[in-house]
Amino acid sequence: MPNQHGKLYVVATPIGNLADFSLRAIETLQQVDLVCAEDTRHARTLLQHHGITTHCIALHQHNEQQKAAELIQQIQQGLSIAIISDAGTPMISDPGMPVVALAQTAGISVSPIPGACALIAALSASGLAVTQFSFLGFLPRTTNARISLFKQQKNNTATWVFYESCHRIAACLNDLASVLPASQEIAVAREITKLHETIIKSSIADMLTLFSQDSNMQRGELVVMVSGVKPDKNPAVLSEQQLNTLQVLLAECSIKTAVKIAVEITGARKKLLYQAALELSAAQEQ
Ligand code: SAM
Repeated sequence: MPNQHGKLYVVATPIGNLADFSLRAIETLQQVDLVCAEDTRHARTLLQHHGITTHCIALHQHNEQQKAAELIQQIQQGLSIAIISDAGTPMISDPGMPVVALAQTAGISVSPIPGACALIAALSASGLAVTQFSFLGFLPRTTNARISLFKQQKNNTATWVFYESCHRIAACLNDLASVLPASQEIAVAREITKLHETIIKSSIADMLTLFSQDSNMQRGELVVMVSGVKPDKNPAVLSEQQLNTLQVLLAECSIKTAVKIAVEITGARKKLLYQAALELSAAQEQ
């Protein structure tokens, strides 16, 4: 029997420049029966700009739990519905999750219409390594909670990225500087795709100076990115495996030769291996 359900679309909208809206997003919003928007007044500006006249209702963090069942029922009756948020991709620090989750449970097809997303746009122009990254969403509002989060992230080898409000950015950068080395690279993307778009990469220390000198940096919408720490290829302690290798070699040859071969095999620092070899030999003699 053919599936008579409608469909649920998750449609990304611009994050500043109204032209950053795909043809498919416009077509979808024109064709669906209902648009669920985080803020209907805000959505109307975008919809009108693109000549979209589809009926629009509010779906935000305060009503999405209650509304979800009703919307799913409408889709089961054959309506197609699109979710949009105020900016960017719904569900990325934005409403939408309860409806999408319930749709999946009900066997309704959920289709993304991809487009702008502030964290992806920011990373793409940051100049930081982005092969791997972690997204932390919005940060906690208190210094203690932020510092504890930064301590957890301190040894992250991937770039990490978060959203921060312009009211807390100065405090947030100070907290970051209190946990990470002053030389660690960070990037801030401000007002992406808008008139005052600014994307800066620098050390934490230089970023703090810039923010204290230019109060404009504390205005508008911001994405902060922190480069991951480079894994230490040559740590200051030997691993158990490196010690075992050294021990096997010491049973067969002199300290000098054992250390020489161990450097070749394990890649560990010669000084560390030599010190360990002396200690192992002394322990054996006792
Ligand atoms: N769903 C959106 C997305 O896909 O990026 C994010 C919504 S979240 C409620 C809003 C936050 O995203 C802002 O506080 C800011 O941190 C970031 N943001 C949104 N638009 C931005 C822009 N044009 N420039 C810089 N950051 C932006």
